[in-house]
Amino acid sequence: MSQAKPDIIETDVVLIGGGPVGLFAVFELGLLNMQAHVIDILPRAGGQCSELYPEKPIYDIPGLPVVSGQDLTERLLQQIAPFKPEFHFNQMVTELHPLEKERWRVRTDGGLTFVAPVVVIAAGGGSFQPKKPPIPGIERFEGKGVAYAVRQLDALRGQEIVISGGGDSALDWVLTLAPLAKKVTLVHRRDAFRAAPDSVAKMRALLEKGEIDFHLGQIAALEGKQKLEAVQLKTPDGATRRIACTAFLPFFGLTMKLGPLADWGIQLHENLIPVNTQDFATDKPGLYAIGDINTYPGKLKLILCGFHESALMAQSAFARVFPGEKLLFQYTTSSSSLQKKLGVA
Ligand code: FAD
Repeated sequence: MSQAKPDIIETDVVLIGGGPVGLFAVFELGLLNMQAHVIDILPRAGGQCSELYPEKPIYDIPGLPVVSGQDLTERLLQQIAPFKPEFHFNQMVTELHPLEKERWRVRTDGGLTFVAPVVVIAAGGGSFQPKKPPIPGIERFEGKGVAYAVRQLDALRGQEIVISGGGDSALDWVLTLAPLAKKVTLVHRRDAFRAAPDSVAKMRALLEKGEIDFHLGQIAALEGKQKLEAVQLKTPDGATRRIACTAFLPFFGLTMKLGPLADWGIQLHENLIPVNTQDFATDKPGLYAIGDINTYPGKLKLILCGFHESALMAQSAFARVFPGEKLLFQYTTSSSSLQKKLGVA
């Protein structure tokens, strides 16, 4: 049974960004008894590793002579599982605001509100944002039929949907939405797809069974008065064809932008957040920045540096979350209480 989310989610730590560094921060916080909620605009964890180079080998993660971007993400997820972090995907953090009593309020564009004594910005190179197709006036239909991500599956139930693109996102959504929608039409400029071969095979099987439509070409214009009513398809031979629809989902890849972070009143240096190297705190109490988003003398944008920053940040965050409590330094190899938390005792 699905449970309604509370109006305000109160937690120990809000992590903005679920890249490798945000994920490892969950581990370091968890060892010290701090519960974290992780927010990311992407539909999955892993940040750059999963989004930009899932199959590329990484050779400089300590103890792992070679690991792919996706494999590293999966291993990190496995490592932090004992701490049961709560993930909020497809959510862009739009607002970060200091409250009284040294707490922070974080809001997302999906309507979630969090309150916590500690916020950790692990936003990497900024938020991944969708590349928009060059269709005149597309902004007018955003939220009125046009969407670049699927936030609520139920909102698309029974709709006539046109999906444009040839990569994994486009094909994944064709497969997911076909059983729910009234009709799904895929549009791509050629009859070859970059998506995983298994997804392509499944899409072609649906096409053969007549459960979806496919057209070669590009969407050139949108029609509708108050909301989207149809798209105009330009076919390779130059003809125009009208496809009636209530939803248009273009999946043209992602680009990294600093995004709303620039408006949070944080002092930035060349779009990065200056921190001290003692605990990777910013100049605002309870606000930390770790991973690619921070800057300090000697900073290297490497995953292993972000892991180190997570450990020192967590020690400092402890004092804010549990004021007055003594922090005992312990090794995972020898501490039975840490092993109990990890479920290995
Ligand atoms: P990211 O991985 O960038 O994750 C940040 C996350 O925050 C993103 O998912 C983003 O969507 C989210 N986010 C940002 N703003 C918001 C917001 N407002 N709301 C919601 N979510 C938000 N490093 C190595 O150490 N070794 C290598 O071999 C290596 N190879 C690389 C190869 C390539 C091709 C690239 C591009 C990078 C490579 N790197 C490598 C660098 C490494 O990937 C980064 O250092 C690492 O990803 C940084 O992790 P992060 O968690 O700080 O940020």
